[in-house]
Amino acid sequence: MVEELRTLGISDEQVLTAIGNVPRHWFLDNAFLEYAYQNKAFPIGSGQTISHPYTVAYQSQALEIKKGDKVLEVGTGCGYQTSVLAQFGAKIFSIERQHSLFVKTKKFLDEANVHVKLFYGDGYQGVPTFAPYNKIIVTAGAPYIPDALISQLAEGGRLVIPVGEGEKHIMTIVDKHKGGELKKYELGEFSFVPLLEDKNWNH
Ligand code: SAH
Repeated sequence: MVEELRTLGISDEQVLTAIGNVPRHWFLDNAFLEYAYQNKAFPIGSGQTISHPYTVAYQSQALEIKKGDKVLEVGTGCGYQTSVLAQFGAKIFSIERQHSLFVKTKKFLDEANVHVKLFYGDGYQGVPTFAPYNKIIVTAGAPYIPDALISQLAEGGRLVIPVGEGEKHIMTIVDKHKGGELKKYELGEFSFVPLLEDKNWNH
């Protein structure tokens, strides 16, 4: 799978090593075991999917994580991207809005000795208690860029977020420069499950 990612344009060796270090089959129900190393998204329960390895690699590469960074992930899901992020020597915080997934993933990552801080709540609000973050990654498609995430970004920090109203999302980078100036870049098109707002809260 790592070689396939390389041919798809993932060139950051740190990212390729991190992906190679995390056994993706841990995150899939037994029924999907044989598919674990194909470059596809799969159901993880509660109507959610585990992200494509390419998407996980792409977002990880775009984040440019440095050792010691504080990183916030919005949308823990099954914890696959979280576990990849945990390989970079950074401090990882991750928030999930579905209670059953939060509980399941917390237990699982604890048992797997993946050292990250997990939160149950609405990612539109970020996790203010531990802000600011050097990097923020959103792993669900957002109709717009939530203000709270911009304000919880450190100066010199970077937000990587798929933005779009429908099925298609444009991978977007927002860099916060010294003094708070924001610079936005749009990358390729992806497809994510939606980042849900409070009005749809269910758990
Ligand atoms: N990072 C996961 C991707 C999970 S899919 C992986 O590696 O596979 C996106 C996740 O975002 C889902 O688990 C969904 O429940 C969660 N999510 C959706 N809206 C959210 C919100 N407002 N706050 C936090 N999590 C949210």
